[in-house]
This record gives sequence, structure tokens and C-alpha cells, in this order.
Amino acid sequence: MDSTHISDDLSEILVTEAQLVAKTAELARQIEADYEGRTPLLVGVLKGAVMVMADLARELRVHVEMDWMAVSSYGAGTKSSGVVRILKDLDSDLHGRDVLIVEDIIDSGLTLSWLRENLESRGAASVEICAMLRKPDAAKVEVDVRYVGFEIPNDFVVGYGLDFAERYRNLRDVAVLATHIYE
Ligand code: 5GP
Ligand code: MG
Ligand code: MG
Repeated sequence: MDSTHISDDLSEILVTEAQLVAKTAELARQIEADYEGRTPLLVGVLKGAVMVMADLARELRVHVEMDWMAVSSYGAGTKSSGVVRILKDLDSDLHGRDVLIVEDIIDSGLTLSWLRENLESRGAASVEICAMLRKPDAAKVEVDVRYVGFEIPNDFVVGYGLDFAERYRNLRDVAVLATHIYE
């Protein structure tokens, strides 16, 4: 039977809600300064980036536009392969736009390096990346990420938009799942 509380399924909280809130404000101040006088197009990558996008966009005190993409990266099992398919494309024309990709997490980096090239090829004036989490030890390709929230160990994490089998996205913190959930 399912456990009643999400917290029963977690082994460790890696990043608390309070830390996420503080970091979001910090990133927003940098973004406001860097994009002064411009209106960036925030591109959220569904579904994981929903929470980051909602919080970051509301923290920004300048004009932004928001658009969404859904991609799937093929690979053996849960591992990202770098072969990416667009499931839902943007509605916006990127020509001349300052695009800021908003992501939940950078693991291998394969999805984001593909995405950046894809968006650049559509004539964007600039393409930068903001990711709340990054696992430096999992990197397979180097991705130049202008805004990073937290560097975390190479564990599978859930919460703040990140799922395991579509669950746990609604957890307010970022946490490591207990092993009994997998087994
Ligand atoms: P990458 O292409 O950088 O390996 O990762 C692509 C996607 O895999 C991320 O955007 C995220 O949706 C998912 N992912 C990577 N690491 C984790 C993790 O630790 N937990 C969860 N829930 N998803 C992850
Ligand atoms: Mg993602
Ligand atoms: Mg997922």
C-alpha cells in the first residue's frame, strides 16, 4: 500500500524550500541586471521546470515572456542518450530574442546541449541557461550554464518539480528517495 506522507519515502533532504526561495531571489537579481533594458523569453522545459519557472518568473521585477517545450531524450532505461525528440514545441518565434532556458536539473548535460543548439539555430539573439540544480559528477558534456542554483551529489533526487514515476513533483524540498521505493 502507498505510504500516506511523501516524507516517509525520503532518505535525505538535500535542498530545503527556504534555500530554494533564497537562491531564486539571488538568481533573479543577477538576471535582472544582465538583461537590463531587454525582455527575455523564458523557456521552461516541461514538466520538471514548472516549479522553477513559476517561482523565478514571479521573483523577477522586469518584463519577461514565458514559453514551454517538452522534449524526450531516448536512451537505455533512465539514462539520457543525447538523442532528443521534441514532444511540444515553442509557440514563439525566436528570431532576435534573448532566450533564457529554465531547467530543473543538469545531469549528463546531453539534453541541454542539444536544446541550446536547437534554439540558437532558430535565430535567437542569445541563448542562456538557468538551472536550479546541477550534478557536476554526472556531466558527459560540458554545458556553459550562466545561472546555477545548487551543485548536488550524483544521486537521483525528487521534489520541486522532479519526479519518480510522475510522483514527488509536489514536494517543496529537493530530496533523495529512500531505497525501499525503488526496490
Ligand atoms: P540530462 O540530459 O542532463 O542527463 O538530464 C535530462 C533530464 O533528466 C532532466 O531535465 C531531468 O528531467 C531528468 N533527471 C536528471 N537527473 C535527475 C534526477 O536526479 N532526478 C529526477 N527526478 N530527474 C532527473
Ligand atoms: Mg528537466
Ligand atoms: Mg522525470
